[in-house]
Amino acid sequence: MASKPPKADPVQDAPQVAEPKHAAAGIPAIGHTLRIAQQQMGVKRTALTLLRVNQKDGFDCPGCAWPEPEHRHAAEFCENGAKAVAEEATLRRVTPEFFAAHPVADLATRSGYWLGQQGRLTHPMYLPEGGTHYEPVTWERAFDIVAEEITALASPDEALFYTSGRTSNEAAFLYQLFARELGTNNLPDCSNMCHESSGSALSETIGVGKGSVLLEDLYKADLIVVAGQNPGTNHPRMLSALEKAKANGAKIISVNPLPEAGLERFKNPQTPQGMLKGAALTDLFLQIRIGGDQALFRLLNKLILETEGAVDEEFVREHTHGYEEFAAEARAADWAETLTATGLSQQDIEQALGMVLASKRTIVCWAMGLTQHKHSVPTIREVVNFLLLRGNIGRPGAGVCPVRGHSNVQGDRTMGIFERPAPAFLDALEKEFGFAPPREHGYDVVRAIRALRDGDAKVFFAMGGNFVSASPDTEVTEAAMRRARLTVHVSTKLNRSHAITGARALILPTLGRTERDLQVGPNGKSTEQFVTVEDSMGMVHASRGRLEPASTHLLSEPAIVCRLARRVLGETSKVPWEEFEKDYATVRDRIARVIPGFESFNARVARPEGFTLPHAPRDERRFPTATGKANFTAAPVEYPKLPEGRLLLQTLRSHDQYNTTIYGLDDRYRGIKNGRRVVLVNPEDARTLGVTDGTYVDLVSEWKDGIERRAPGFRVVHYPTARGCAAAYYPETNVLVPLDATADTSNTPASKSVVVRLEQSATD
Ligand code: SF4
Repeated sequence: MASKPPKADPVQDAPQVAEPKHAAAGIPAIGHTLRIAQQQMGVKRTALTLLRVNQKDGFDCPGCAWPEPEHRHAAEFCENGAKAVAEEATLRRVTPEFFAAHPVADLATRSGYWLGQQGRLTHPMYLPEGGTHYEPVTWERAFDIVAEEITALASPDEALFYTSGRTSNEAAFLYQLFARELGTNNLPDCSNMCHESSGSALSETIGVGKGSVLLEDLYKADLIVVAGQNPGTNHPRMLSALEKAKANGAKIISVNPLPEAGLERFKNPQTPQGMLKGAALTDLFLQIRIGGDQALFRLLNKLILETEGAVDEEFVREHTHGYEEFAAEARAADWAETLTATGLSQQDIEQALGMVLASKRTIVCWAMGLTQHKHSVPTIREVVNFLLLRGNIGRPGAGVCPVRGHSNVQGDRTMGIFERPAPAFLDALEKEFGFAPPREHGYDVVRAIRALRDGDAKVFFAMGGNFVSASPDTEVTEAAMRRARLTVHVSTKLNRSHAITGARALILPTLGRTERDLQVGPNGKSTEQFVTVEDSMGMVHASRGRLEPASTHLLSEPAIVCRLARRVLGETSKVPWEEFEKDYATVRDRIARVIPGFESFNARVARPEGFTLPHAPRDERRFPTATGKANFTAAPVEYPKLPEGRLLLQTLRSHDQYNTTIYGLDDRYRGIKNGRRVVLVNPEDARTLGVTDGTYVDLVSEWKDGIERRAPGFRVVHYPTARGCAAAYYPETNVLVPLDATADTSNTPASKSVVVRLEQSATD
């Protein structure tokens, strides 16, 4: 029997701390998976639902964007994927009665965990101006309210259309079409906060802002560098691929300020041997200093250049540009200072070099540990320099592998969810639909928050996500959101963004991935629809929900966009919104004509395994860059400087968390139980700073704007982090990240390198 949602917010003032684990998954993962699934779905529904995740005729996991292997296991999911599915397919419901019992002011005092545990939204809800409670509203009235506010704007550029990475390809394509026919490119999305730095660096250096590696390449690699990523929690099925690569002879270097259980040993629950003994993964752990990755790859590049025969001269000659300038910069690197920037030893670097030179096929995988720093774009460019030097792009077993964190975040960008769209894409839209899309760039996430703060934006519309909790500078973001005339959230479950509202607010409940999507077709008959997603490696496949929707009042994301567009744009629209709502295949036909790589979309996605999008650098060693070559780049090495008595803080996820969704209050692999307000500090640093394990401190961030941002009441946990480096969970520590502290070029919030001081808490 599924359990009821928690009535009260669980008390978190005494987290228990034990030794960190040294292996991921295994029998405990199965136990946790089944316990949480049963709590949310009960036994029968658990079996029904989990056996359909990531299956060829099933639905795509709403968790991360790790690809499906050709051969699917009966249980083709990980613990955190199961948690994501269980929370969506939960039997718990948030009804109008719930909102009648909980005024918005009360919801604003609740933890993200408590809000998320309440269950699925069942009805469209409206918070009128000056109101205290959300009240039920009809869909028609809801669209009227949005139309009222949008038509009252002085310009469409006063509206913001945010997208979270769960949005399907069809809904994303329709959403950008609506915003552009309305007249704005204000399409901020969650990748502005995560892999934007990867997209910027890769577009410039290899001409495609996406990874060039397929799953098979991982199995063929002989060296895999995993940098700034914790796959054990954030992309758990990646561990199976690493295990298989190891079995095929690969070596693994992991680069991280924290030792992570998932990179030490993987107990694969799919095999008895795996479950019990498991497989050691990392061969060399480089405990890098936060923000020291560019320096690391610079040193390796310098040594490769100084090693006779180590450079793939032919590849460099035929396929690259800018080699000489880069080589001069790298050879001139100051060894001592660059080594200091890494926080590593000379021996570490030499060991790594040995593995690099022994490798003929090298892949570098990375995530937020590389993308959320001021110098993230130069860092990722340096990774590309590292791979280009030995020709590790465009051949099997080699390449760049930014691992996406949200199931369709890459697909959304491919569908046009981008505030800086390419002119060619806008030309194709204009040719296909006969309206002139706006050419002026729109707001990304950080600029959208500034626009709300400064009153330049008045309507905020979010397709999924939890914008307020995911964004930096929480107090600034929440105050900015409250300045809006209208905030609208298309959601499956309750979250903090529903409690931080504009003068008016709407919650529009939508279908989840697990649910059947019936649309009344042109023939008046109900037809089952499916949507498509694109994973982290550019593979596109279908996702078909099978569960009965959580409520009869839900609309699918495509239906919401189509009805909203008809209501707001009216007869002036050139787009057949009604046709699109009735049959998503008609949307895919248009996508096939507008977006390269999607030709014969419906026919190709009808194949059980779907299809792989083209990637010129991988497929043909062709680099569609400004130079027509793969570009080496020469940039000075940067790294965060740390004043005396301060620490460099990285914000991160616990194991019981997916983005801002909190599944539980434990972080099993790091030995933390029943508490999220903890800060991981190196014992030597703690001794120097005079903070004993168990002490409660306030985290105070310091930044050039002189504003003190405080996160109170964190329990100090002595933890084997790199010296000078600390770690704590977001969203609780997003308050410490200044809005204007962003990565150069990509404008991604620099959430991984925040200078903080620890102050004894008044509470301690
Ligand atoms: S690895 Fe990612 S996509 Fe796969 S089941 Fe886990 S969370 Fe879902």
